[in-house]
Amino acid sequence: MRAAGDTLGFVATMGALHEGHVSLVRLAKQNTTRCIASLFVNPKQFAAHEDLSAYPRDEAGDVAKLEAAGCDLVFAPKPNEMYADDFATAISVGGVSNDLEGLSRPHFFGGVATVVAKLFLQVQPDMAVFGEKDYQQLLVIRKLVRDMAFPITIIPGPTIREMDGLAMSSRNAYLSAPERATASAMPRALRTAISALEHRAPIKATLARVEADLTQAGFARVDYVALREAETLAPVAGDTLTGAARILAAALIGRTRLIDNMAVG
Ligand code: AMP
Repeated sequence: MRAAGDTLGFVATMGALHEGHVSLVRLAKQNTTRCIASLFVNPKQFAAHEDLSAYPRDEAGDVAKLEAAGCDLVFAPKPNEMYADDFATAISVGGVSNDLEGLSRPHFFGGVATVVAKLFLQVQPDMAVFGEKDYQQLLVIRKLVRDMAFPITIIPGPTIREMDGLAMSSRNAYLSAPERATASAMPRALRTAISALEHRAPIKATLARVEADLTQAGFARVDYVALREAETLAPVAGDTLTGAARILAAALIGRTRLIDNMAVG
């Protein structure tokens, strides 16, 4: 493709694809002449107690969705092709990795950075699209690319949502019907908070209200509800909103952990 003068766009995924992933492929095709997608459930970003073996897999279905979206090539390596038995390298992005998701899942961003760095070198794309659904991950990848001078432009893809506002996620497949109904409280609570914050409601009380709303709706545990600077995820100074920010949350319904985030201001 490169020899033919094509520009290459890349979308990294763990498969079990939904409309969110497909939107990233379409975005890639708007910016480059070819799109490559990877399907790889990356063992390095799961802790021992997490859902690696249960993670949904449907390679044939995924390939069909990618083809329909205009993807030109699928890279679906086996775990031992990515990580030989004597694989010994780890990429660690500091700063933005060490908070929020990094506190709840200490192994996570190291695993993501290691696999994405390797995928970038294997695919050598001109451009890569990452979803805002995983907002902190998007910032970690941006930092990785800047720090290591990967010659790749990172483009953010907006979060694609279900009709009731729930952010699409491969993990939504774990939810029972009642849990799925509970899940819509997450985007609802975030939207309510955004409206309050944009009307100068106090930040601390507004975030506490989101946590209470989630608990009342039936979430089993709230890992965090946070308001952060949009570009750095640094804490927002002051008692009320003064500039552009991001609200981010992570909470469990039963044993399923959901994350979401939205722009504020
Ligand atoms: P995953 O397969 O969950 O690792 O996600 C692969 C890519 O798709 C990441 O860049 C995600 O941020 C992105 N993604 C996941 N869900 C969505 C969504 N609902 N809307 C947009 N992008 C998403």
